[in-house]
Amino acid sequence: SRSLGRKAVVFNKQAFSYEQVLTAAETIRASLAKHLPGGSGAAGNGGGGPEQPPRVGLFASPGPEYLAATWAVWQAGGIVVPLATSHPPPELDYVCRDAGVAAVLAPPDQETRLGPITRRAGAALQLLEPLTGGTPEQPRGRGQGGAAGASGPGAGSGELSAADAADLADLGSSSGRGALIIYTSGTTGKPKGVLHSHRSLHAQEPCTPRSLHAQVASLASAWRWAPSDRLLHCLPLHHIHGIVNGLYCPAAVGAAVEFAPKFSPQAVWARLESGDVSVFMGVPTMYSYLLAQYDAAGLGPSGPERQAAMRAAAAGLRLTVSGSSACPVPIMNSWKELSGSYLLERYGMTEIGMALSNPYEGERRPGSVGQPLPAVEVRLAGDGQLLVRGPAVFGQYWGRPEATAEAFDAEGYFLTGDTASVSGSPPYWAIEGRTSVDILKSGGYKISALQIESAILEHPGVGEVAVLGVPDQALGEAVTALLAPKPGPDGPGPRPSDAELGAFCRERLAPYQVPRRWHWVSALPRNAMGKVNKKELLRLYTAGQL
Ligand code: ATP
Ligand code: MG
Repeated sequence: SRSLGRKAVVFNKQAFSYEQVLTAAETIRASLAKHLPGGSGAAGNGGGGPEQPPRVGLFASPGPEYLAATWAVWQAGGIVVPLATSHPPPELDYVCRDAGVAAVLAPPDQETRLGPITRRAGAALQLLEPLTGGTPEQPRGRGQGGAAGASGPGAGSGELSAADAADLADLGSSSGRGALIIYTSGTTGKPKGVLHSHRSLHAQEPCTPRSLHAQVASLASAWRWAPSDRLLHCLPLHHIHGIVNGLYCPAAVGAAVEFAPKFSPQAVWARLESGDVSVFMGVPTMYSYLLAQYDAAGLGPSGPERQAAMRAAAAGLRLTVSGSSACPVPIMNSWKELSGSYLLERYGMTEIGMALSNPYEGERRPGSVGQPLPAVEVRLAGDGQLLVRGPAVFGQYWGRPEATAEAFDAEGYFLTGDTASVSGSPPYWAIEGRTSVDILKSGGYKISALQIESAILEHPGVGEVAVLGVPDQALGEAVTALLAPKPGPDGPGPRPSDAELGAFCRERLAPYQVPRRWHWVSALPRNAMGKVNKKELLRLYTAGQL
């Protein structure tokens, strides 16, 4: 018997229990089954191979319905395909067609937007009625059941045991059946659908153990997820950071996920200051906005008190994770000054889940992504490319057998396309960047753009920077910095001169690393995960369009 009274999802100041979410899942499943081929869905019609279960698009707006719909799709034997709320119709068309969705689940207010898209894809549109009957939220002390982490499974009545919760999220896990197709962020090209299966970690059969649940189990233990945790969730749900790390992990241990409607530094600080959030996850730009808000608070009339309250709020978080792109060292250092500890930086990809992580306990190193998570094998290829093998690695790029085959070496290691290095004892791994755009060759030197970006960001006048290798006759590539100013109290702050930036870099970098050219823009264009597409930036820059 299960005790499902614990809060699962908090949204719009209403809390919904695991029981309520499961009950809603059953209702959704019952209607969904009508739209899926073969009822519980063994057959498939898509490009992923003859035996694939039906795909169901899930329009990813946050709320308890999102978790309910996920479980409904799994119970109906389908594969969840998260659709991005921020994507324009052509992008949604692309994903729906590429994945061959049989149905799309979406909130009623999206009917006009998704109607034509589902029609074009030949899919059914099923509306997700908003859940009602939530309990009004009263902020209370840190953690649902007392101090965060202090109340493990079974520490009170009405708690969901870790085993019960794992069981819940583990629907269909005994097979290698498909569970989720996530599209990559599209940072280097057209997003690719990445198929993950349910297979659980405790399946120790000698079969190819590629799985989603390996990801969940590994993070739940490495980062000490507990039922008493509450995550403040501000990430998009169509990428692994938001969906696997930020939703499936807490759901697998019976913790609570509080969805913020969207990321705003003011709203995040207000929630952190209320004291009942124990976990926060963000991309580096979110931390830079939170830090800017902290700096701005210091300028107000009660500056010191405001900042003291913000520091206490940040220090009270049990776990504060950064990932999806490299966290510049100056952001790490400023957060440490503010909160007393470094952000926990980890490295992962849609294809492999989380592979490397700084330790939860023990030394976290700025500029490093720590050590391999349990069961993850990593190695460096001759050119410095990071290779990864392990139970969390994906099965295939959906409908792209050639791309899938090219992504693995003869020993089954996945080729990440990222350049890494390792040093020290115990060894700490560092990501030097994407091999294709962040590793520059200039004047015969191999240069990491990320290292230069970190150095430039230390300058108080620089808000954002992207370092590119611009084709150059003499040097091969000329190190070029695209910069955006730091916001001041009224509009953008003053721009330091090229000469000043050059001198600043010469104190911190080798001469060949110092940018030859500096180009200012008002802001760097970023995708939904806060990432810059450097190929696109280079194209715009060389075409004189920036
Ligand atoms: P696409 O594959 O479509 O070009 P993408 O690679 O950005 O997009 P994701 O799978 O969401 O899509 O992102 C994985 C990439 O993010 C990694 O390959 C790596 O380059 C980057 N990344 C993630 N975490 C870190 C980190 N801590 N440090 C440096 N890079 C990181
Ligand atoms: Mg990628």
